[in-house]
Amino acid sequence: MIEIEIWQNPYFTVHVCFAEKVQLTFAVGHLALGYIIGKTSSKIFKVDINIPSLFVASIIPDIDLLIPGIEHRGPTHSIILLFLASIPLFVVWKKKAIPFIAALITHPVLGDYLTSTCRVQGIQLFFPLTKNWFYGSFQALNTAFVFLEVILLGIMLLLLVMTKDLQFFMQSHSSNILFAVPIVTALLPVFTQFPIPVPTALIIPHLILIILLSVPILIDLKTIIVGCKKNWFVS
Ligand SMILES: [Zn+2]
Repeated sequence: MIEIEIWQNPYFTVHVCFAEKVQLTFAVGHLALGYIIGKTSSKIFKVDINIPSLFVASIIPDIDLLIPGIEHRGPTHSIILLFLASIPLFVVWKKKAIPFIAALITHPVLGDYLTSTCRVQGIQLFFPLTKNWFYGSFQALNTAFVFLEVILLGIMLLLLVMTKDLQFFMQSHSSNILFAVPIVTALLPVFTQFPIPVPTALIIPHLILIILLSVPILIDLKTIIVGCKKNWFVS
């Protein structure tokens, strides 16, 4: 779908916006931003984070892509609905929920709103108060975001090493299976389409993330298989 918008700003310059309903921030940017913001907030509020949950939170608003009848970047990107959905989490987990909620809110605000430049790329930021589509109109940010996503991934990997969070990916944890959510819903689908719907600069970052998030799942599988074999021998 191509939609053209023309409007005037107070200085009477006319902007013409024509674009397909395109992806703005890709999975790499959302996942990296979610981890960086979640990790930073965990330091500020002095709480531990569950790394798989952070990755799930940073990508979960895009679940609308899998639900027929719901427009992409519609209600699931509303900060009002996300805030309301976060209340039970805060009630149950108190301060520990803050990094998760921060990663969740980061998705529409930093990931999608700031990089959108017109209606067709906008998000329903304040649904259900208004069904208007909001967009940041930061053209420079929109253009540069592919490269920013590569930089954000670099910062994320650096943080993983510096904070020793990388060790988490080398160990068996009950929550490791959550890594399958971003892999199956956001990362792998990129490679099931032709042509690949991400800029060339983001193909290797996508592959890096697929490998990184797959390692803990494979470690869990190995642990389960070894455990089963031991049980077979015992019984
Ligand atoms: Zn989104």
